[in-house]
Amino acid sequence: AAYTKDDIVSLAKKENVKFLRLMFTDLFGIIKNVEVPISQLDKLLENKLMFDGSSIDGFVRIEESDMYLYPDLSTWMIFPWEHEHGKIARIICEVYNADRTPFQGDPRNNLIRVLKEMNDLGFTEFNIGPEPEFFLFKLDPITGKPTTQLNDKGSYFDLAPVDLGENCRRDIVLELENMGFDVEASHHEVAPGQHEIDFKYADALQACDNIQTFKLVVKTVARKHGLHATFMPKPLNGINGSGMHINMSLFHKDGNAFFDEKDEMQLSESAYQFLGGLLQHARGYTAVTNPTVNSYKRLVPGFEAPVYVAWSGRNRSPLVRVPIARGLSTRLELRSVDATANPYLVIAAILEAGLDGLRNKVVPPASVDRNIYVMNRQERQDNQIGDLPSTLHNAIKALEKDDVMEKAMGPHLYPSFIEAKQLEWSAYRQEVSEWERDQYLELY
Ligand code: GLN
Ligand code: MG
Ligand code: MG
Ligand code: MG
Repeated sequence: AAYTKDDIVSLAKKENVKFLRLMFTDLFGIIKNVEVPISQLDKLLENKLMFDGSSIDGFVRIEESDMYLYPDLSTWMIFPWEHEHGKIARIICEVYNADRTPFQGDPRNNLIRVLKEMNDLGFTEFNIGPEPEFFLFKLDPITGKPTTQLNDKGSYFDLAPVDLGENCRRDIVLELENMGFDVEASHHEVAPGQHEIDFKYADALQACDNIQTFKLVVKTVARKHGLHATFMPKPLNGINGSGMHINMSLFHKDGNAFFDEKDEMQLSESAYQFLGGLLQHARGYTAVTNPTVNSYKRLVPGFEAPVYVAWSGRNRSPLVRVPIARGLSTRLELRSVDATANPYLVIAAILEAGLDGLRNKVVPPASVDRNIYVMNRQERQDNQIGDLPSTLHNAIKALEKDDVMEKAMGPHLYPSFIEAKQLEWSAYRQEVSEWERDQYLELY
């Protein structure tokens, strides 16, 4: 909603708001918040509130750690949860340097920068509809810690009483609606204990804010049900992992720029070029869309997650699918993304990839409507079907080679992200797993 400073001051008074949570997102997609008493509201609204950014991952060095938080007034929201000391409101902020320039290590600022590039090319909006999936696990009744015990045996679109997660999911949906979310669908997913909640698309920046708020609400409500909600991409062997498919469309002043009635698939030239860019840079942005070691345990054949770089209007195995809806709803669905990704970085990366396709008039390869998993290497090559990176290590190498991704992330985020992910990979590769001991200890 569009609020003025005065609106916020009077809403805070009327609703007895006692604390403000000033939120922003770090390099790894984790929400950070600085909580201040309501007495600081005026200072905040005048962009005078400072904080110490030195201990935030991917932020700054000690000597330049004083930073400003500029509130985005449209993100004002009072949490529906009751508190003994009065209510708590949140407001999402942009991080500014001490010299009052936007801090480019703030992923949200970076997205704002890339959205301006999009505007310069004549587009008004990049609409994003996410489909986050998650598991519900039981909490240990004694320690309160998450276990890997599932709380139901349900499956795709199952109903209660098989699905004990149903009540929890319904509560999550109600809470989201209380907070102004427009929930379009909510269902049990394929794996036991796995759920999906889809909310209405929004313009890029707001969609990212929504994803961040969504994860917080899901985790908070699950806890009240004695459950732990996790967005970890592949928590259990042998069953589907959790993704966060991203539906996207580009708008200009006359509506959806991806739609063209006259085309055989009713897709516009812009849609094909954008798609071409998405496919061309797929290897480059995978470290961003799938940023953890565990992400790559999901991107394997047999569990409805993509493994190959291809697109289709029908089949669900490729990286990009064109859902059947047309007209205003014409969109591309990117199926690799998982919810461990930083949404602001993901959207900046895929938008830059798509814009690169538009600028260079990239022609995508033909769509692949066959099951790619049954093709052999030669058939894949003949159809111009490449592989997604199979490990975080390979993904980082591809990211390092992609200049368009460097442009998408900017001079602060790009090197910090690569460095942080290299550290993560080198910590992981030194670990000897149970699987290795099972395979080799006795055999050799
Ligand atoms: N869970 C699957 C994935 O990993 C998606 C399943 C679906 O939504 N059809 O992407
Ligand atoms: Mg879905
Ligand atoms: Mg799904
Ligand atoms: Mg989907």
